[in-house]
Amino acid sequence: MTLIRLTKAFNFEMAHALPGHDGLCKHIHGHTYELFVTIIGEPVQDKFSPKYGMIMDFKDLKSFVREAVINDFDHALVLNREFAPKNLDRKNDIFKRVMLVDYQPTTENLILDFSERIRKRLPGHLKLYGLRLRETLTSYAEWYASDNPDV
Ligand SMILES: [Zn+2]
Repeated sequence: MTLIRLTKAFNFEMAHALPGHDGLCKHIHGHTYELFVTIIGEPVQDKFSPKYGMIMDFKDLKSFVREAVINDFDHALVLNREFAPKNLDRKNDIFKRVMLVDYQPTTENLILDFSERIRKRLPGHLKLYGLRLRETLTSYAEWYASDNPDV
């Protein structure tokens, strides 16, 4: 059995705020996030399969991660539901992509949310190996399945 890791990179624009933070991050601001998704599995051995030699077609990995994460978070303003204004006018176009979440939207909590979204939808024969979420050129968080064996 030969296991191979396969990674695809994504970019998306997202704004957030960290209420209560003791610095500038308490204000609404944005980042160009980079998400690296690494799956692990065995390449298809069936010579007659269109996916012969692949763990997952890169184009399938791309559309799968877009559906699981990127489509919702790209160009969204992500706010902790607990601290978000209660009277957002959702009919106003500028608030249509406000996403309320049940956590403080730090890089750490976002990557945990992304890991759950991806693992829920990943085909059974594949495993999520790890994620890297880059918030700035010099800052990123990583999630590895091996660090979290109980999930
Ligand atoms: Zn930030």
